[in-house]
Amino acid sequence: MPILRLAIPTPLRSLFDYLPPAQLSAAEIEALQPGCRLRVNFGRRQLQGYLVEVAADSEVPGSALKEARELLDTEALPAPTVLQLCLWAADYYQHPPGEVLELAFPPGLRGGKPHQPPGASAWTLSQRGRGLPDGALGRSPRQAEALQLLQQGGAVAGTVFREMGISTAILRQLEQKGLAERCTLPPPAVTAQAGPGLALNPDQAAAVAGILAGYGSFASHLLEGVTGSGKTEVYLQLIAHCLQQGDQALVLIPEIGLTPQTLERFRTRFGQGIAVLHSGLNATERYAAWEAARTGAAGIVIGTRSAIFTSLQRPGLIIVDEEHDSSFKQQDGFRYSARDLAVKRAQIENCTVILGSATPALETLHNALQGRYGHHQLALRAGSSELPEIAAIDVRRQELQGGMSAELREAVRTTLAAGHQVLLFLNRRGYAPTLQCHDCGWIAQCRACDARLTVHRRQRRLRCHHCSAGESLPSRCPQCHGNRLLTNGLGTEQTEDVLRLQFSAWPVHRVDSDSMQGRGAMQALVDEVGTGLPCILLGTQMLTKGHHFPGVNLVAVIDADALLFSADFRGEERMAQLLTQVAGRAGRAGDAGRVLLQTHYPDHPVMQAMLQESYAVQARRMLEQRRQSGMPPCGRLLLLRTDSADASTGEAFLGALRRKVQDQLPAGCQLIGPLPSPLQRRAGKFRSQLLVTAADVRHAQRAARLLAAEATQLPARNGLNWSIDVDPLDLG
Ligand code: ADP
Ligand code: ZN
Ligand code: ZN
Repeated sequence: MPILRLAIPTPLRSLFDYLPPAQLSAAEIEALQPGCRLRVNFGRRQLQGYLVEVAADSEVPGSALKEARELLDTEALPAPTVLQLCLWAADYYQHPPGEVLELAFPPGLRGGKPHQPPGASAWTLSQRGRGLPDGALGRSPRQAEALQLLQQGGAVAGTVFREMGISTAILRQLEQKGLAERCTLPPPAVTAQAGPGLALNPDQAAAVAGILAGYGSFASHLLEGVTGSGKTEVYLQLIAHCLQQGDQALVLIPEIGLTPQTLERFRTRFGQGIAVLHSGLNATERYAAWEAARTGAAGIVIGTRSAIFTSLQRPGLIIVDEEHDSSFKQQDGFRYSARDLAVKRAQIENCTVILGSATPALETLHNALQGRYGHHQLALRAGSSELPEIAAIDVRRQELQGGMSAELREAVRTTLAAGHQVLLFLNRRGYAPTLQCHDCGWIAQCRACDARLTVHRRQRRLRCHHCSAGESLPSRCPQCHGNRLLTNGLGTEQTEDVLRLQFSAWPVHRVDSDSMQGRGAMQALVDEVGTGLPCILLGTQMLTKGHHFPGVNLVAVIDADALLFSADFRGEERMAQLLTQVAGRAGRAGDAGRVLLQTHYPDHPVMQAMLQESYAVQARRMLEQRRQSGMPPCGRLLLLRTDSADASTGEAFLGALRRKVQDQLPAGCQLIGPLPSPLQRRAGKFRSQLLVTAADVRHAQRAARLLAAEATQLPARNGLNWSIDVDPLDLG
């Protein structure tokens, strides 16, 4: 008896054996394809499983094997290459294969639902209708007419009947007689066609030619181009080539970068035929986009992280824009990097992948410098505009208002008076990060986390930025009932207040996740700022991604020191990326613009580097430091985390794990921990971690398999949860 080996979305890291459903004939079992969905009993639940292989025998004794209930697909819906990618990723990231394979399907196909892609409603003949002799409906001419149309074969759109004057009522009568059935028409294939591109400058032309030279087989490329250097134009022309070959292009964009502005740029060049996939869509929209990608109806697929698992009919090109962006790495559950999987996918699909950024991740730069990736540099801004100059403002002993020195306030004033726009960057939302009692010293703390509550004045609330906790803003100290409550530190709301007072003649736009609620908020802002009239933009990271503000002539970082003292080994890289990206918003419309960094440490080497060196130079120096320290990308990391109700449970689990694995680890691997995580208690759980360092990817992989296997064997008491993070981005 053949055995069906299934991946089932459960936390268990294994495949499950089932007998084929009884209804299936030997020939049907023979024809089963990996990736087909089956409904199965799993414990007391019914779940949807995914066929991985049909095996000749099972380790489970025959009598213990259960039958799968039902086959949901007669042919596999995801592309075989996507299945291969999922299984590879499940092994690489040591995540349960069923939960990974689930991502190969849109949410609309996850609960055992039949494959009925959304589309225009249509009608076809039923089994019975097909066997009906001519003239069988002699007494009902309208029904006969409808039937005749259907007998010409295939599905007929509802609109066609309406044009012929056949009402839905007539069709419903055929349906009731069991002669006709409803169905949906797949979306029509719209060929995306490229409008004319810009005349490329020599650097752009060299990049396009260099990338196209290897088109048609696997190759990875880094496109390293300063902000505004015309990377997007390079992508667009490569996509035009891809479409000309009849291939499809997959474009991955950071969470926050998938803006109407970005889409508009693609639509203007290529018209329709673009499928868009992101978490803001409803299930029907995602299903339709997924189907258009899978069937090849859409020439271009643009999406955020999880779009890397979208099946394509004829993949030719994969682009990861702003590849350094941390939103490409999922930070919980299945902790994959969509950027790294894009390279793996291109290898499986035998196609071209391009990672583009003004501030490439050191991982990517390392690969390019080692010759594993093609490396194309755009060192100059496209068009006429120059890169802005960066200067520091030494704020020591200065009087600050809303965090701004007199020098900065003056710079803002002259910029506005000259008719330009100003962008101020402050990466902390809310009014102030601390509320303290002046009488007794009490500080507002989150009850569930090792963290202070942030004051949100607009909402009159205290909110935790690590969990969902919140409470109303007290007017008296809960400890001593004193009424002298002080705020310490600075958030965007506070700076906004000062700006509104001091620059009341100009509009002030605060841009953070509190002020930009709702789908249209950001677009409305972008439209308004797009008029070019003088105004002040004040915001968090949200401002630095994906948006172009051509009228901005002054960019200032209000608290550059906030980035300076990070405990994370990636701290300096992040700071350089963020500041370079912020600075890149300035001077896009011809004029070079200015960038000011406010700091108490103007002589700090990292600050000096920011002022004097390009990101390209800084990145190469940081890479040298990583080489000396053996940290990624010049070594590999993996992290095993536990969450538990008290600190000792997690530490005991990780201590036991350490003892089990330490003599079996591959040579050169080192264990660090168990240690409490930097923010140990969050949302009521205590987090501990065990870090593994390895010399290279092969050793890290062996270590990951070993750790996951041993952790699975250990008893997890008191509701302890553990998870493994391969190539972690944050060590928290
Ligand atoms: P990036 O993606 O690197 O930030 P963009 O592709 O957005 O850069 O280009 C920045 C600006 O330069 C855009 O306004 C774009 O239209 C313009 N641009 C790009 N390439 C060229 C070119 N070859 N000739 C003229 N202008 C260009
Ligand atoms: Zn008090
Ligand atoms: Zn909290």
